Amino acid sequence: MALTGLDIYKKLPKTNCKECGLPTCLAFAMKVAAGQLMLDQCPKLSDSARGELSEASAPPQRLVKLGADGVAVEVGQETVLFRHEERFHHPAAVALTLSDSASVEVLRSACADFRKLQFPRVGTTIHPDMIALIHESGSPDKFVSAAELVCREAGVPMVLVSGDRAALLAAACGPLAGRRPLLYCRGDVSSDQLADLAEQSKSPICVAGDIASVAAAAEALIARGVKDILISPGPADTAAAMSFLTQARRAALKKKYRPLGFPVLAIAAGGDKFAAAMDACAYICKYAAVLITDAWEPHLLVPILTSRQNIYTDPQKPVQVEAKLYDVGEAVPASPLLVTTNFSLSYYSVEGEVEAARVPCRILAVNTEGTSVLTAWAADKFNPSTISAALKAAGAESKVSHHKIIIPGHVAVISAQLAEESGWQVLVGPREASGIGPYLKNEWRA
Ligand code: SF4
Repeated sequence: MALTGLDIYKKLPKTNCKECGLPTCLAFAMKVAAGQLMLDQCPKLSDSARGELSEASAPPQRLVKLGADGVAVEVGQETVLFRHEERFHHPAAVALTLSDSASVEVLRSACADFRKLQFPRVGTTIHPDMIALIHESGSPDKFVSAAELVCREAGVPMVLVSGDRAALLAAACGPLAGRRPLLYCRGDVSSDQLADLAEQSKSPICVAGDIASVAAAAEALIARGVKDILISPGPADTAAAMSFLTQARRAALKKKYRPLGFPVLAIAAGGDKFAAAMDACAYICKYAAVLITDAWEPHLLVPILTSRQNIYTDPQKPVQVEAKLYDVGEAVPASPLLVTTNFSLSYYSVEGEVEAARVPCRILAVNTEGTSVLTAWAADKFNPSTISAALKAAGAESKVSHHKIIIPGHVAVISAQLAEESGWQVLVGPREASGIGPYLKNEWRA
């Protein structure tokens, strides 16, 4: 059980020296118990007290590293139930499934396909992170050689899934030695057998089952000194998986219940592929740390990756692009000049439509502190003065020959004042980005 503030206070020096930044030792103890401060921030704490109190200062959910140094992903150590309370810290790792029963050629080709699954979105590239190799061949040798091939060809962290502990151990201690694959042992397996597997392979281990049995097994693993654990509802239906995910997160964060204070692995694969992809999106939002999916097709995978990207951005920091003049395509002085804000989604919506229209353009992204067009206009950040200043700062006068700017239709109301302040001819463009292509092709004249 986690220690209370008073439990912690009893072990502190009680000098109220204030070196931790708080006025009293009691205030410090309360903050540590709430997970808001670390014990290390008290320089006066004795080593023996530090050792006794280590549980109180440990994060409520463990951070687990999967994969070899250089390509590893870290999952867990989340601190809140809801993203708006702070933010989510370690994005869920998405693992695509491969079967060891596939031929060498198919596995090699799948690894090549995996490396191509890179999708640019709002200024970053989203992609899957891991491969989950499923032992379906029945042959331990085939499983080990498939693990070796996938590890070599894909070069990403792996989840090894098998009901055969000897096969898991052979792969983890053989071709994947030192690469810290996540070992998922299917079927009836005791906590002692899992602990042996974790100790011998020196790899993270996954404990699967209903929440009560998982908690009991995790407690036994902790007692054996195993630290890098993931917990999982296994191949459960949607309701059972969501129940497991939310119960585990609440127990870890609200009750500081250590046996469930581990990242959760969820599985959304098989059956109806569209339903599985929707399950995957739901699991990522609440609160999968590793997601095993068979959504290899981009139309299924991209929504999953997009859900992850959205939920793991910091809600207090709008995603921005640099406020400047951008060339899209082979822009020349006679090319149209569109104006938008530096909110990533606004900018990339405009850029995407310009690229799709195949009309080279310039886009002026005005600094609105990452807010969208209407939000910035309402907050008086996207107005004739800020746009005129941005035109000057970008040196648009020397780069554009026609002296015309196209503003979003939603802010048509500022066109007259903007023309007056900037000295530019102001054209009112479409209200939505989707109208940019037709506008450029049918209405734009230099
Ligand atoms: S630094 Fe340690 S001893 Fe000093 S007030 Fe803070 S908790 Fe107390």
